[in-house]
Amino acid sequence: MLGKKIGWKFDNTYSNLSESLLSKLNPTPVKTPELILFNHNLSKEIDLDFSQIDNKELALIFSGNKLPDGSDSIAQAYAGHQFGHFTILGDGRALMIGEHLDKKENRYDIQFKGSGKTPYSRNADGRAALGPMLREYLISEAMHNLEVPTTRSLSVIKTGEDVIRESILEGAILTRVASSHIRVGTFQYALISKNKNDLKTLFDYTLSRHYPDLKKSKFPAIDLLKVVLEKQIDLICNWMRVGFIHGVMNTDNMTISGETIDYGPCAFMNKYDPDTVFSSIDLQRRYSYFNQPRIAKWNLERFAESLLPLINNDSKVGITMANEVLKEFPEKYKKKWLEMMKKKLGLVGDDRNDEQLIIELLSWMHKNKSDYTNTFCYLMNEYKHKNQIYNEKQFILWKKKWEYRIKLNNNSQEKSFKIMRKVNPFVIPRNHLIEDALKHATKMNDLDKVHKLLKVLQNPYDSISTNSAYQLTPSLEENYVTYCGT
Ligand code: AMP
Ligand code: MG
Repeated sequence: MLGKKIGWKFDNTYSNLSESLLSKLNPTPVKTPELILFNHNLSKEIDLDFSQIDNKELALIFSGNKLPDGSDSIAQAYAGHQFGHFTILGDGRALMIGEHLDKKENRYDIQFKGSGKTPYSRNADGRAALGPMLREYLISEAMHNLEVPTTRSLSVIKTGEDVIRESILEGAILTRVASSHIRVGTFQYALISKNKNDLKTLFDYTLSRHYPDLKKSKFPAIDLLKVVLEKQIDLICNWMRVGFIHGVMNTDNMTISGETIDYGPCAFMNKYDPDTVFSSIDLQRRYSYFNQPRIAKWNLERFAESLLPLINNDSKVGITMANEVLKEFPEKYKKKWLEMMKKKLGLVGDDRNDEQLIIELLSWMHKNKSDYTNTFCYLMNEYKHKNQIYNEKQFILWKKKWEYRIKLNNNSQEKSFKIMRKVNPFVIPRNHLIEDALKHATKMNDLDKVHKLLKVLQNPYDSISTNSAYQLTPSLEENYVTYCGT
């Protein structure tokens, strides 16, 4: 009956793969589920209709207490290099309840995060706390609206149960929607699985699901590596564009689809500093803003290693073929990054000094601790506050050069601003805004700030005149950190 009203169309394919790649189990029921957030826009986008379902029933569904007909929940096995060290992992606190097809037959994993222990939980509790789940909801939806490929968030419910971290916190479950949860780490797991067929099974499945055209290819494994490399370059350039730092670019947190996944210790950079890291445990600065492309390449090398048996029977030949692809990363990345930065500055056509112009601005921002997002807003006349920094002599000189450059190639400032407005957000989910909204939600049971922030973040490229307070940056944010495993 429920299925009819809502429009679920489950077609579960991953759960049919070999048992060594997954574990079948249901979510652990929770005490008193309560709906906290629900993403009606997203549910409409994927052709689900919850308009006739009240909040109580929504809470029952999205806590896992009342699973929809047709679901078949599984925890996926995977491995991963965490901060460079290889570990066997798996969904330790998540369950994919099924794959839903929208009317156009687009396939979405519906996954509960925080739904109880699984065979992969190791010594942890399988649960999640309210703050971090609200955080993932806020940031993933912001990323989507910033036009960065990402998993989405459909709901957050409170479980009515405590979770014990450094203090006692309220438990919560996030429903994540993803084009799949196949990770580099899933391939790493399949490579060393006891079941020798797992790698080929996973590979064939991945091609069918994400890259069906490659099935006809002469060298499908090498072509998969190529397309994932392109996807990751595109993704990282998008992160760099909006100043996003993932924080834990472990291979288990890198998808084959090219979507951003796992919003743990991630954050947006305020002042421009390429060394910025946000994870409390990242003492080596492995996952700093500047290192993100380098780490993407490192992760792709691990992906290539996992694919080797499928590339060529002779591993030496396979390694040579994979290296041919991987060695193109730096040049391809640089080209994409340059294109992206030129758009951020509204540069039309080519000029031999373009890269220099970009680097000069970034160096100036770094030296002067200038806010990354707001500096581009300032150039588009969209920064609505006073800041003496932009009266600085070196900046004025740079700006003159830039103004001269944007008029080259028959271009006008108006045209440049049009290009810039599509790629430079006026508002990002700044850390202090997120923290303030989460504090009100978790300590005062007040979701007003979360809703307001979500609303502003829905249109990050619209002129900010009515919401310019969201552009302000706090002065005391030198050592902002976020934490893993919450
Ligand atoms: P993450 O840092 O969220 O990417 O998680 C890394 C690994 O730790 C994954 O295998 C998670 O499923 C697992 N994990 C994180 N938190 C918990 C938890 N509270 N209970 C069980 N497993 C967890
Ligand atoms: Mg993860």
